[in-house]
Amino acid sequence: MSCDIEISGLTKRFGQNTVLNQIELCLKPGERVAIIGPSGTGKSTLLRSLNFLDAPDEGRITLGDLTVDAAKASKTDILALRRRTAFVFQNYALFANKTARQNIMEGLTTVRGWSAEKARERANQILERIGLADRGDSYPSALSGGQQQRVGIGRAMALEADLMLFDEPTSALDPEWVGEVLDLIRAIADGRQTMLIVTHEMQFAREIADRVVFMEGGRIVEQGPPDQIFGNPRDDRTRAFLRRVG
Ligand code: ADP
Ligand code: MG
Repeated sequence: MSCDIEISGLTKRFGQNTVLNQIELCLKPGERVAIIGPSGTGKSTLLRSLNFLDAPDEGRITLGDLTVDAAKASKTDILALRRRTAFVFQNYALFANKTARQNIMEGLTTVRGWSAEKARERANQILERIGLADRGDSYPSALSGGQQQRVGIGRAMALEADLMLFDEPTSALDPEWVGEVLDLIRAIADGRQTMLIVTHEMQFAREIADRVVFMEGGRIVEQGPPDQIFGNPRDDRTRAFLRRVG
């Protein structure tokens, strides 16, 4: 099988604590992979390691024709990884002093070096797609949690990255806003971009993912198609977890 994106031997320690332990993952182009597992298990650290928000200690990350060795990654490597990935944060992480439109433009003008005019045009298209065409001039504080996260997703969409990373995109939301955010992710998960989605929404994972990865204690315990992981898990730890959350 050809891996478009390959993670191999990825290891991350915080002091004595090995939070990621030799993670191996191969993603096919356009694949949607859901990551589930107990809290404190390294799911966020895995996503953050992939673009060096947390610098991994060991292992290799390959994104298309770019391969980065964690132990000797240069600034150029890290910048290149960041150019090819887009991150949707649990707490939206919007700039409070920028409007919705400016938040979407930001990465395009700074990381991509686009002109403000071109970035504004793209941002307007994105605002349309995330259903916020009339809220482009609003600051985050004037938006609902659901709208803020839709802007967070729009900002990531604008980058057209090879790999989209979602870290529990609905877990900070009031229940009333969860549906609209999941609907937006469903709408954009059309198989064109590869997606790694950490989620505690099991039904959503089952429906959206081509593959589900169960992590515990910094390791991948089990992975497979959603029907297998949710319907017929092989490992006791996966079963115990699914009983607890189901
Ligand atoms: P999950 O997303 O699965 O809940 P995390 O990746 O956030 O888990 O955390 C995994 C482990 O790493 C936890 O034990 C957490 O306390 C630890 N950890 C995460 N970030 C840091 C950090 N910046 N410094 C020290 N320990 C951390
Ligand atoms: Mg987390």
